[in-house]
Amino acid sequence: MCKFCKMHAQGYGKWYLNPKGFSEEFFYKLSLLDRILGREPRKVRDAKVVSESAWYPIRISKMMDEVNWSSLPFVGHLVRMYGNYVAIRGHAAQVVPLEDALKIVDLSHDHTLYPCMCKRLFKGQDEYKCLNYAPITEINRKATRGWKEKKLSPEEAKEKLQEFEEKGFVHAVFWWCEMPQSICICNCDTKYCYAARPRTWYGIENAYRKSEYVSEVDIDKCIGCGECVKRCQFGAISLGKDERARVDPKLCFGCGLCREACVQNAIKLTDRNTHPLARKIW
Ligand code: SF4
Ligand code: SF4
Ligand code: SF4
Repeated sequence: MCKFCKMHAQGYGKWYLNPKGFSEEFFYKLSLLDRILGREPRKVRDAKVVSESAWYPIRISKMMDEVNWSSLPFVGHLVRMYGNYVAIRGHAAQVVPLEDALKIVDLSHDHTLYPCMCKRLFKGQDEYKCLNYAPITEINRKATRGWKEKKLSPEEAKEKLQEFEEKGFVHAVFWWCEMPQSICICNCDTKYCYAARPRTWYGIENAYRKSEYVSEVDIDKCIGCGECVKRCQFGAISLGKDERARVDPKLCFGCGLCREACVQNAIKLTDRNTHPLARKIW
């Protein structure tokens, strides 16, 4: 159980499976200061800003692209500290395997696909692979950005997630301002992902946390075809001298995409919390 689950799962096993995270009441909760100042709740205020503009990992990542601050001694440490602090209090993600993404569909409603903001900013292309759900969808519809949306039934949302899995996109559930509030499952090509890049390029862990799982290969079943190696976006699986696949548990994000690619059914996900090497790496 990761530190978020310890604090926010409240008996549901994982923070993102806590039904509170999908409730309107929690989303629209007013703080004492909100009441005194007569303003909207923070989640709504922030959502309006984000719906109209790029979100903070994009700002951080762009800033880092210009000068790689994170590689500088001391400054890099401060940048990572700041990035981790902001990510926890804002909008960032944890990788989830397909089976958990499907559970999130069952807990949520108003499933709606939006274009991937990162791909649009990186490549100028629209790919509909950000699966949003209520209550953030209400805010999106009121925003002036004019993005087209594709509304899905729960069954269609699940089919889409399965399709993204087959295409090799990493599923990640995003929290919003305060856990366990979650607002979307993104399906990412991580080299174009402004949430994954602060993690994979600059070491800001809270921007893109690893899943609750880590993968393992049954080498007796492995025939060394290498399909899993091609599928992994994190360079965590490779063929050994014996032509059998091996996972580096320190690099594995527990996305499960290698498992999907293995026709021999030689790969399974195990609990990260009990893995001797991976349990402290989130
Ligand atoms: S987080 Fe992933 S799916 Fe979402 S906008 Fe970025 S790359 Fe696209
Ligand atoms: S896909 Fe399966 S059989 Fe092929 S190398 Fe990977 S673990 Fe082995
Ligand atoms: S080894 Fe498998 S589960 Fe781990 S990050 Fe790579 S594709 Fe995902």
